Amino acid sequence: MSTPAVESREIELAGQRVGYTLRRSVRKTLGLRIDHRGLTVGVPLRVGLGEVESFIRKHAGWVVDTLQARPASPPAEPLAPCDGVEIPVLGKPWRLRLARGGNRVVWHEGFEQGGSGPVLELALRSGGNARGLLLKALQQRGLELFRNRVEEYCLRLGRPAPPVSLSSARTRWGSCSSRSGIRLHWRLIHLPLPLIDYVVAHEVAHLVEMNHSPKFWSVVETLYPDHAAARRALRQAGAALPVL
Ligand SMILES: [Zn+2]
Repeated sequence: MSTPAVESREIELAGQRVGYTLRRSVRKTLGLRIDHRGLTVGVPLRVGLGEVESFIRKHAGWVVDTLQARPASPPAEPLAPCDGVEIPVLGKPWRLRLARGGNRVVWHEGFEQGGSGPVLELALRSGGNARGLLLKALQQRGLELFRNRVEEYCLRLGRPAPPVSLSSARTRWGSCSSRSGIRLHWRLIHLPLPLIDYVVAHEVAHLVEMNHSPKFWSVVETLYPDHAAARRALRQAGAALPVL
């Protein structure tokens, strides 16, 4: 009897159908991986389906949470930072303007631009890298904001704020560890503040419960009552983000 090396299967976890790719190979242990394509379970050749499913169930909390929290697969076309393109920042479109200058970024928040809405000006040296400058500006703004929001949610919990840093992980919006503190994906800066706050509240709740147990979700609930709707909105909004 031969078993196919790669199969598409489904399993019910926490009341929802979760699709996964079962990949058999000469490995010795079972392993889970989640990326933009979804869940893949790596399995040694002779392990039966019952053992595979109980292994996935043992990690159900992590699987469901990571699948819901992962940034969706990026669209094929990256966005070129040209004059006039719109970049979402905190859920609002900012028009990019390229100008000559000393490699500096100016955020024109208000209507001083003749009512055209907010303008993000990249004042570039000749031969300057527009994309690099734009990323730096967005990341700087993100880090400042994320630090403020983490402080705010820690204050509500009565905990000292941990160090906050940026990540560009492929599979998650945020992470929390006692060693490195809270890491948040820099692309969150594109999203409306309430969605950023959900990710922040989720990671801050991990300061109390380093797992996804019912106790953990009750801490999230006190910090961010409408977390289920936010998770759904985050999944949708994340899929629509530009790739820079
Ligand atoms: Zn979590």
